[in-house]
Amino acid sequence: MNRYTQDRATRPKPTQNSAKFASALLQEEGLLYEVGHANTSGVDLEVLTDQPDRLGSLARTTPTGLVGLSEPETLRHYVRLSQRNYAIDLGLYPLGSCTMKHNPRLNEKLARLAGFADIHPLQPVSTVQGALGLMDQVSYWLLQITGMDAVALSPKAGAHGEMCGMMCIRAAIEEKGELEQRKRVLVPTSAHGTNPATAAACGFVIDEIPANAGGRVDMAAFRAKLGPDIAAIMLTNPNTCGLFETDIKEIADLVHEHGGYFYCDGANLNAIMGKCRVRDLGVDAMHINLHKTFSTPHGGGGPGAGPTVLSSRLARFAPLAFVTGDRATGFALAEHPEQSEAAFGRMCAFHGQMGMFVRALTYMMSHGGNGLRQVSEDAVLNANYLLARLQHEFSPAFAGTCMHEALFDDRFLQGTGVSTLDFSKALIDEGYHPMTMYFPLVVHGAMLVEPTETESLHSLDQFADTMLELAKAAKSGDVTRFTQAPLTAPMRRLDETQAARNPVLTWKP
Ligand SMILES: *Cc1c(COP(=O)(O)O)cnc(C)c1O
Repeated sequence: MNRYTQDRATRPKPTQNSAKFASALLQEEGLLYEVGHANTSGVDLEVLTDQPDRLGSLARTTPTGLVGLSEPETLRHYVRLSQRNYAIDLGLYPLGSCTMKHNPRLNEKLARLAGFADIHPLQPVSTVQGALGLMDQVSYWLLQITGMDAVALSPKAGAHGEMCGMMCIRAAIEEKGELEQRKRVLVPTSAHGTNPATAAACGFVIDEIPANAGGRVDMAAFRAKLGPDIAAIMLTNPNTCGLFETDIKEIADLVHEHGGYFYCDGANLNAIMGKCRVRDLGVDAMHINLHKTFSTPHGGGGPGAGPTVLSSRLARFAPLAFVTGDRATGFALAEHPEQSEAAFGRMCAFHGQMGMFVRALTYMMSHGGNGLRQVSEDAVLNANYLLARLQHEFSPAFAGTCMHEALFDDRFLQGTGVSTLDFSKALIDEGYHPMTMYFPLVVHGAMLVEPTETESLHSLDQFADTMLELAKAAKSGDVTRFTQAPLTAPMRRLDETQAARNPVLTWKP
């Protein structure tokens, strides 16, 4: 018996709503090790004889323990698994803070051009002038959009970009000989978990700033924390409550006055690009998630890229490798410490995620400057449309309009016996990936909904109708629909805590 079949018989019947998401044609799927065999191979090769032994005593004497599959078996295994995935190409994906927007196929087409896709990082630079030129163009656009002085392209994710920015800040503090005394990094309680993790990994001590009743930095508490031991503040804007930090300029000025640096988490650039310049906010370092704002596939669909823009105070510390030169004289890569004495080191072996650079530049150039501004406007408009449609049945966490994501708490579920978790699971039966839940931590039973600008009015309405119907069902006492959910997914409720704490990463026969 397969793991997926165990509770089929005892599973409650799907509701009428979920019937449209039939799973009848989906076959059960085992692990590769359950499907394949050690003596199967996808290719037929003659056993070689009379070949000189070039491995000597290094030759393996025991089987690898790996299984083989034929080509159709392999394909079917992965295609079946892919059908068990929810994807942005299947429907609205309201995962707040993650910016799951449509990935234009033009990006994909250009990323697959052989001149970009088939080159190797160790090729002589004279043979990859076009690729280096493209990286130079990506840098140009990111600096135009943010108004900043330099950009490090190599970080391979948002959190990696945070690490890059904080390493630059650390290097600047070290150069001034203040590393011993500047140990504290201020992080608002609403911050993404990666912010305090990054600061801690860079050797700093985290000091939390509480949020005020409006969901923004509590300025009195912030002022009280300032002192000569401040290394930096890590602030997200718009913050993870979906709100613009209205005191951001004052916060930057005060941190600077106390000799600290301002790290801005720019994962949410989606909401402000073309509307306000990051430089004018007093930012010293900020990562930009290409995979969020500039629509490169992520979340199981592809790698990330987190270029980090820097102010003139930090530019010198940017990591190797980076592109130098120009089209007229030829591009080159600065790769060696003597080419940049202040560089704090490297973030990765080569120069970053080439495929993501191609996709992001395609996105930027196909939108143009005014198109990128409209992306921000439409992202904010769509989130506010959902907020307006949902606010009477749900309980918005904060009064007023939002930026690119709408945040609700669980007051509307009070007394229903339905929790945020149950509600999210019920959404799966309706054909939607759940919204981000229980984050940010400052809001009780949080539900963070980010529709992005790529959803049509029709799709927003369809989602809002589903959400409203679910809220009414919860309030009318239809509790089992929630506590039993998901009824239609291949797996029901998983012990996610156990899975995270005790992951089973090896297969045993
Ligand atoms: C997504 C996100 C990050 C981390 O980005 P990764 O690419 O997942 O490492 C950091 N901060 C915020 C606010 C985010 O939304």
